[in-house]
Amino acid sequence: AKEGGRNTYRFYTDALTQSAREKLALEAALRLALERQEFVLFYQPLVRLSDREITGVEALLRWRHPELGVLPPEKFIPLAEETGLIVSIGEWVIQEACGQMRSWLDRGLELSTLAINLSPVQFRHRGLVDSIERAVLETGVPPGVIELEVTETALMDSIGLIEQRIARLKALGVRLAIDDFGTGYSSLSYLRRFNINKLKIAHSFVSNIEEGEINQPLVSTIVTLARSLNLQVMAEGVERDSQLGYLSKLGCDFGQGYLFSHPLPPEELDRLIQGG
Ligand code: C2E
Ligand code: CA
Ligand code: CA
Repeated sequence: AKEGGRNTYRFYTDALTQSAREKLALEAALRLALERQEFVLFYQPLVRLSDREITGVEALLRWRHPELGVLPPEKFIPLAEETGLIVSIGEWVIQEACGQMRSWLDRGLELSTLAINLSPVQFRHRGLVDSIERAVLETGVPPGVIELEVTETALMDSIGLIEQRIARLKALGVRLAIDDFGTGYSSLSYLRRFNINKLKIAHSFVSNIEEGEINQPLVSTIVTLARSLNLQVMAEGVERDSQLGYLSKLGCDFGQGYLFSHPLPPEELDRLIQGG
């Protein structure tokens, strides 16, 4: 038993060093990934429910890792946030997404929204507004199409600072959406105070929205709230016709989810829009 105990102990320390080592390696790889242009953006259609038209896209980050293949954001964004690398990665995202949008608009695609996700770390960073302004100037994309998606938590961070930042963003003409609305811990007063444009109903609320189930009153309340404040409202993670039916009945404006399309590389999104 004594022997076994010692082995167990050694097992744990080895495991810890192993994970620390992996983290260091990942951090180094993240730094290189930007230089080597290993990041790519996929785009998921945003669909107007009244006529099923694709009215916009959300840019979603992927890392084409040379050995591990295509990595989704949850594999690397937490570490990118921890190390601050998310700021440079985020700047690349903004620039790249605006450039892509510009080329779609130039080719006559009727897209009115380019949604870009912002980490709370980026939102706190002082260079944020400048980097958006730069992307607008360099790509010539109309600022009114840019919709920044932030979480409630990001907005609650440090009210004074955030308020100034939002005022500057609004002065630029960009729009603001609350991502995963209803999952954060916050008051509702900021919806007015920050002049929010859209609420995105969290996927977790939509997933069992079918009539009679527990999330129905939640979703219905969020749609009513949005209506009464004159905000747009979009449901995330729409996977089934039954969900779409219920959301349409409630008067939800927009939907996004596998029912319409998975996130796609830009060429495939092109085909989807021009073919349909
Ligand atoms: P999110 O902003 O809530 O994005 C929606 C996520 O749900 C995406 O995952 C999307 O692929 C997935 N999704 C879309 N439709 C469905 C559906 O019908 N069913 C299910 N089960 N999932 C669906 P993804 O692309 O893995 O992104 C995960 C999260 O990573 C995003 O959540 C966002 O918070 C973050 N993220 C993505 N791109 C960026 C970025 O450029 N910058 C930052 N800071 N965060 C990003
Ligand atoms: Ca989002
Ligand atoms: Ca979300």
